[in-house]
Amino acid sequence: MNCKRCHHTDEVHIPDEKSDFMIKLGECKIPTCTCNQFINPIEEIDEDLL
Ligand SMILES: [Zn+2]
Ligand SMILES: [Zn+2]
Repeated sequence: MNCKRCHHTDEVHIPDEKSDFMIKLGECKIPTCTCNQFINPIEEIDEDLL
């Protein structure tokens, strides 16, 4: 599964218990990446139904 924001995998995102999102993953560990919250690409599918 890849982050919708930065397209890196969930495995390189640091677990974040304080996250409000369903998937409790925070910062991306890739040095050049500025992503600070894993975004589940699957969650975005709901918007297509609106
Ligand atoms: Zn990233
Ligand atoms: Zn990311």
